[in-house]
Amino acid sequence: MIGHKHTISLVDSHAHLGSSDYEGERAAVIVRAFTAGIAVITVGSDLLSSEKSLRLARRHRHLWAAIGVHPHNAETLNKKVFDRLMRLSRNQRVVAIGEIGLDFYRDLCARDVQRVAFRNQLELSRKLDLPIIVHNREATGDVLSILREVSSSYRGAMHCFLGDRAVADEFLELGFHLGIGGSITFEKNDALRKVVKQLPLDKILLETDCPYLAPVPHRGKRNEPRHVRYVADTIAEIKQISVEVVAETTTKNAATLFNLW
Ligand SMILES: [Zn+2]
Ligand SMILES: [Zn+2]
Repeated sequence: MIGHKHTISLVDSHAHLGSSDYEGERAAVIVRAFTAGIAVITVGSDLLSSEKSLRLARRHRHLWAAIGVHPHNAETLNKKVFDRLMRLSRNQRVVAIGEIGLDFYRDLCARDVQRVAFRNQLELSRKLDLPIIVHNREATGDVLSILREVSSSYRGAMHCFLGDRAVADEFLELGFHLGIGGSITFEKNDALRKVVKQLPLDKILLETDCPYLAPVPHRGKRNEPRHVRYVADTIAEIKQISVEVVAETTTKNAATLFNLW
């Protein structure tokens, strides 16, 4: 069996390897990640992609699955889907509930329906004692208030974190790690770089959100897990530390939070 801890140098904590963008090339993308020493958490955004994530994770030792219903698909979270997610979660390769959350930017689903789906999946994660992966787009106030209604402390990732220092502190206080992705390499994102410069490294997770959000120098093209190294490079540069320290610390963060290996 391939894939053990000593060959892994970085963890991509948020990828969509089940995406149809990889049709016909998925195996090659997965091999490239492994060859580059990248372990991956591939996330679900509805029942079908959650099942797909788990199928991939069962086949590859450097992949793990998160299962959940994205706010865009909140309408699909009925009792049957909920029960199915619960059954899937019993598999050892499932390491988180996600991605779940609120998206008031694209508003593809009614906000009240999003709120209910988010809350129900928070409850699910607590029942299962699994960490969560949270998607938040222009909904910080609501995300925080729902989180606080359910609990005062969490294990989880705020994925694709783009907030300011004050927002970062609110999530850190609730126990969250912050997922940093390709956006940190974008020229216009000085504000985010300034925030990340001050974040404790032991609260940072690396991610790609592939196939979306490819970092510079691949911006605008299809993204894949091995490009997570550009995120690591940028964080090392901002914090003026070696990329080895970034790799070692963020890999340990992900391994501990999601109970990998
Ligand atoms: Zn997301
Ligand atoms: Zn995502």
